[in-house]
Amino acid sequence: MSEVVGEQPGQAAESHSQSVVMKFGGTSVEDAAAIRRAAQIVKLRLRNKPVVVVSALADVTDQLLEAGKAAARGQLQVATDALQALQQRHEQVVLDSAGPRDSECLLPQLESDFQQLRQLLQSISSAGELTPRLQDHLLGLGECLASKIVQAAFAQAGLEAVWVDARACIVTDAAHTQATPLWEETNQQLQSVLLPLLAQGKVPLLGGFIGSTRDGIPTTLGRGGSDYTASIVGAALQAARIEIWSDVDGILTADPKLCPDAHRVPAMSFEEAADLAYFGAKILHPAAIAPAMRKNVPVWVVNSRNPEGKGTEIVAQPGDDCCIKAITAKKGITVVDVEAVRWFAPELLREIFDVFERHQYGLDFLSASRGSLSLLVTSTSALPAITEELKGLANVRWESEKALVCLVGEKVRRQPEIASQVFRALSDVDLRMICHGASERNISFLLDESKAEDSVRRLHRLFFQSRFDRYSASNTAQPMCQAGGSWQ
Ligand code: ASP
Ligand code: MG
Repeated sequence: MSEVVGEQPGQAAESHSQSVVMKFGGTSVEDAAAIRRAAQIVKLRLRNKPVVVVSALADVTDQLLEAGKAAARGQLQVATDALQALQQRHEQVVLDSAGPRDSECLLPQLESDFQQLRQLLQSISSAGELTPRLQDHLLGLGECLASKIVQAAFAQAGLEAVWVDARACIVTDAAHTQATPLWEETNQQLQSVLLPLLAQGKVPLLGGFIGSTRDGIPTTLGRGGSDYTASIVGAALQAARIEIWSDVDGILTADPKLCPDAHRVPAMSFEEAADLAYFGAKILHPAAIAPAMRKNVPVWVVNSRNPEGKGTEIVAQPGDDCCIKAITAKKGITVVDVEAVRWFAPELLREIFDVFERHQYGLDFLSASRGSLSLLVTSTSALPAITEELKGLANVRWESEKALVCLVGEKVRRQPEIASQVFRALSDVDLRMICHGASERNISFLLDESKAEDSVRRLHRLFFQSRFDRYSASNTAQPMCQAGGSWQ
């Protein structure tokens, strides 16, 4: 979040556009029926000048990625067959949801996008490698296709939706697969393209996840990046709110796949939501909160299959004093121990960080002592090379298949009894406690990946079971569609 400059978190910003940014995830636009549901939800917001952001149709990004990998392995036929199936699926959605005139105009456009995709697979196959740059080009076309189709379907549903090419608005650096917006240019572009459309009563509609460099090379904002796009757009327009429409009832106290009795969190702070996303909750992209927080734009996480539901409200001050909001588990963690051959002179520390940075590792600290350093990373691919580079200075060892289980909530760290309750509840599990940075909002524990699910379940029972009734009784969040309210 440190790359965001500007107002302080929570500082009230004058709301320029008073519009509402509505992001629909893959499952909310997976087929014609889902897209029609989304159109109905947008219609309820017409008075609030909606701007719509959409993901690729459900599973398309994964399938494009698989096709790209197959092409890189030399299995071009497998890749083009997969593309063929994707083309049929997209064309079917057009036929099921767009009007005859729009279909006639859109189908040739899709054909040309798929032609581009076939050429890309060809280039990947010839290169024998799926480079980050080619990957961005390949995956980003999923959002281009979806946004064009949803625009036509919305038009058929009676909405004056206008397709906007997100790649021309979200200007990013060249960090392919994880690009960051160049804020000034992006804000300027978004304002100059979207505000006139809103003033004409149109509904601008753009693909999430994608952008391009100043030179027009396609980039992406990282997996799950459509949430981030929604937040970037909401901040640029100083929107009245941002709505993330998915297929769950809001942010839950734990992953419902792990804890079937997980329940909705009515409200949380921007910081709590950002921590949750960072520590592995899949519901939001880790960077998605920062732009909204910077402009103090409330974010709602809501369910497109249950639009009457209340969702989760994310604001500067949620006005509750609930200590633990949710439990997450982030798997696939490796602990790297770096032991100085002699001692940790400052130059050696610098050298170690430089080596990791050169290999593009984002680092989290586990612990540091005089003679050794423990770091947490999410990939082991460059560790052999790093070991080699540090030879003679430090010994490097690592242990994979770890998980980080995290309790998130304002003031969690101010309640020392929480950590001891965790240690007691998981007394049979080998635990290491980690305190990240200066944040008071979380406590994390490192444990074996194989123990993560059971541990989350046990902790959920410990901290939420008794609170469940109180939660449902004191559920004070605003309903999404208040009768006669401004959000109808
Ligand atoms: N379609 C992209 C992905 O699956 C971005 C998103 O859905 O937010 O990662
Ligand atoms: Mg997502």
